[in-house]
Amino acid sequence: MKKIMLTGDRPTGKLHVGHYVGSLRRRVELQNTGDFDDIFIMIADAQALTDNADNPEKVRQNIIEVALDYLACGLDPEKSTLLIQSQIPELCELSFYYMNLVTVSRLQRNPTVKTEIKMRNFEASIPVGFFTYPISQAADITAFKATVVPVGEDQMPMLEQTKEIVHKFNSVYGETLVEPQILLPDNEACMRLPGIDGKAKMSKSLGNCIYLSEEPEEIKKKVFSMFTDPTHIRIEDPGKLEGNTVFTYLDAFCRPEYFPEFLPEYNDLDELKDHYKRGGLGDMKVKRFLNNVLQAELEPIRSRRKEWQKDIPAVYEILRKGSEKAEKVAAETLRDVKAAMKINYFDDEELIKMQSAKYTEE
Ligand code: ATP
Ligand code: MG
Repeated sequence: MKKIMLTGDRPTGKLHVGHYVGSLRRRVELQNTGDFDDIFIMIADAQALTDNADNPEKVRQNIIEVALDYLACGLDPEKSTLLIQSQIPELCELSFYYMNLVTVSRLQRNPTVKTEIKMRNFEASIPVGFFTYPISQAADITAFKATVVPVGEDQMPMLEQTKEIVHKFNSVYGETLVEPQILLPDNEACMRLPGIDGKAKMSKSLGNCIYLSEEPEEIKKKVFSMFTDPTHIRIEDPGKLEGNTVFTYLDAFCRPEYFPEFLPEYNDLDELKDHYKRGGLGDMKVKRFLNNVLQAELEPIRSRRKEWQKDIPAVYEILRKGSEKAEKVAAETLRDVKAAMKINYFDDEELIKMQSAKYTEE
């Protein structure tokens, strides 16, 4: 079976380090293994409009920002197809047919959608499009026959929903759609990176992000303002690691080679953590280290972005070409889907013959 990756992001802002550790870093690694037959990276503008209908300009402006962040991280248009969701009308058609396979109560149980509805204060005024976005996500994934979807933990319910739709479709209409596998980060800290305020998830909508394109001074300011252990007041006090954002970020970003480079008095992260727990290690020292780590990780991304920023028309051209290629693939899937559902009337010679026979007999 072919190996196909699909994943994407909503163009609701620039991408942040949560996206990076949750999905982007993995995508680039997988891309560079050369193991995949096809890789589709989607800018989900139609999904972004489901909760930004009155602000299309925000979505429009952020398409290029997300594309620049992709290229900056090392997604390579020669190896990965970068596309814009709204340019693939077949996705709407697939969603429309999948809607018949999902109940309202099943959608209401989706924990991520529940949290997002609360966060956006939608309560009684949930846009139908937003409520049904897990179905449209199933269309995105199945349209490209994706086998692997590298995403953060918040996407688990979406992948479950997609698998249910695949099973339901295949059992009603015959084996047609491919079941995708979710690929979660292997490190707990990366599953759902908290915001710099220590809140559950770093998210564009919560304003608690360190962006991939951020300048060094800004990164430093954010690191030094980060939430740690509020009971760790004096250096000698023992410190807690649970809920301590600075250590969570070190879990997500630290590589062994950063110790000899920036903090040679410790061998590794475990030693640093032990010292913190025992007491005698101040927050400032840990934050200085984290700042060095983040600066080292983000510098190459920022400078690659600046290169691409010099040729914006070329970036749009990459998206145009990618969307064109993606549309061909989605059109093939849609053809298969319509044939399986037997709504391909004009290609269905059997049907035409049968109906003719019915009236010749009369
Ligand atoms: P929005 O607030 O508009 O929903 P977002 O910041 O949640 O934006 P998305 O575009 O919804 O970002 O998510 C894109 C991808 O990044 C998904 O795979 C998601 O799981 C992952 N992701 C987003 N935030 C985090 C995070 N804090 N930690 C790990 N992964 C994340
Ligand atoms: Mg989100």
